[in-house]
Amino acid sequence: MSGSVTVIGLGPGDPRYLTPAAQAALDAAQDLIGYFPYVARVPERPGLTRHASDNRVEVDRARHALALAAAGRRVAVVSGGDPGVFAMAAALFEALEAGDPAWRALSITVEPGITAMLAAAARIGAPLGGDFCALSLSDNLKPWEVITARLNAVLAADLVIALYNPISRARPWQLGVALGLAAEHRAPETPVILARAVGRPDEAIRILTLAQARAAEADMATLVMIGASATRLIPREGQAPFVYTPRSVAR
Ligand code: SAH
Repeated sequence: MSGSVTVIGLGPGDPRYLTPAAQAALDAAQDLIGYFPYVARVPERPGLTRHASDNRVEVDRARHALALAAAGRRVAVVSGGDPGVFAMAAALFEALEAGDPAWRALSITVEPGITAMLAAAARIGAPLGGDFCALSLSDNLKPWEVITARLNAVLAADLVIALYNPISRARPWQLGVALGLAAEHRAPETPVILARAVGRPDEAIRILTLAQARAAEADMATLVMIGASATRLIPREGQAPFVYTPRSVAR
């Protein structure tokens, strides 16, 4: 089989954050597959067929990509941020695992991108300087009980937490519950960052405390970060503070 699939991370939104390797893979593609806002980020050009689809059909989309590649096409599958972080790369391998064994002979590659938590962290300092974890708060693909069990475990472990998919119209209450659990483990002055649309024209980043943070202030374009006990602010005159977590932990 001569076709190929490259799963490409487009980064958080700013085109300067797209890697040259990701750009080269986009330039080589004949078919472009992805959730429509991500497909819309890739300029149209002759020779590139766009297949934009709605959210929540990741595995169908992945199967489509593999079927096109099996027919000899060079296919690019795009995700925002990094494709391996709560995105299309895992869906592609899920489709590959369950699909036509012949698909395994295709050329399949993943091009990394800058994930939302790293872009958000860089804007405000070094909040992920110590140990941290990333959790998706979406209960579309896993039970809510699993999410709360994991949250409680990482809160007890005193890790900085990056929450992806914090809230949506269909999932309006989960973030409030998560912040409530955090308040049981962490001090009211713990830094909480709401980083919205990082790298896009409507970027807005707020540095709050756990006591101040309200779920209603986040939306589906927001990355929520909850500090660990060592996460602290460096205040600055007339400017937003820096937020950082020291690497060292007292023995
Ligand atoms: N693959 C993506 C994450 C997909 S899950 C990545 O690596 O970034 C979708 C969630 O990612 C959103 O609900 C939001 O929490 C976060 N997100 C994606 N892009 C973002 C951005 N530009 N700014 C802030 N959060 C973002």
